[in-house]
Amino acid sequence: MKFCDFHIHTNYSDGELNLREVVDLYGRAGFGAIAITDHLCDRKSLLGLSAKFLDWTLTEENFYQYLKEIEKEAIRARLKYNMLVIPGVEITYNSFKYARSAHILALGIKDFIDPDQEIKNIFKDIRQQGALSVAAHPVSTKVNEPQTYYLWNHRESLRDLCDLWEVASGSYLFEEVMNSDLPKIANSDFHIRKHFSSWKTVLPSGGSWAEVKKHLLNGNLQFKFFHEQEGEKCLRQVLKVREGSITVLEELW
Ligand code: ZN
Ligand code: ZN
Repeated sequence: MKFCDFHIHTNYSDGELNLREVVDLYGRAGFGAIAITDHLCDRKSLLGLSAKFLDWTLTEENFYQYLKEIEKEAIRARLKYNMLVIPGVEITYNSFKYARSAHILALGIKDFIDPDQEIKNIFKDIRQQGALSVAAHPVSTKVNEPQTYYLWNHRESLRDLCDLWEVASGSYLFEEVMNSDLPKIANSDFHIRKHFSSWKTVLPSGGSWAEVKKHLLNGNLQFKFFHEQEGEKCLRQVLKVREGSITVLEELW
């Protein structure tokens, strides 16, 4: 069993740590796979333009340097920790209207994705690259921050395009997603050190991206709360997904 986290930010966008520090943090804790998913904000909206001004987003100009650095760190992570590092992005469309905002993770990308195109085309582009798409925090995150409801409000029309839906982000499980029959994944949305203790996806093994992808698409996974200081002892709940429904297997406090 391997803890995995498929939603992590570095200082390439608005994360606190640099790529190397992230790899060492997760590697030392024995993770099987992680995905680096820095923000790639749209280039048209006022919020997208301010993200660029504040240096909180990847750009087309530094995108390939970002992929190259991930590739270099992936080699180091494999040798030092036997951990898989997956190149990804979080395509970020923020609107003042939460119903128009959408964040989409693309896992296992090879090329730049135009963040300004229609949402459906973004999903199609991700699939064309052989990458996986994830609806990031699609319902209320229960935290006082701007919310992103577009994907959830359009879940029926996006069902065949979006591969996975976040059932947990950070400390919170999303009941609406839990009770749906959509394929699920749990991530930390890591930005700062304290986000390390959070819900994670647990896979039967680490291995290659092809193996990890297969586990994710087949729902061959569990969700566990990872606590940095207390490790396995402090698991809040162990949940297993089977045919769309989730059963609580263990309750440790
Ligand atoms: Zn997000
Ligand atoms: Zn994020």
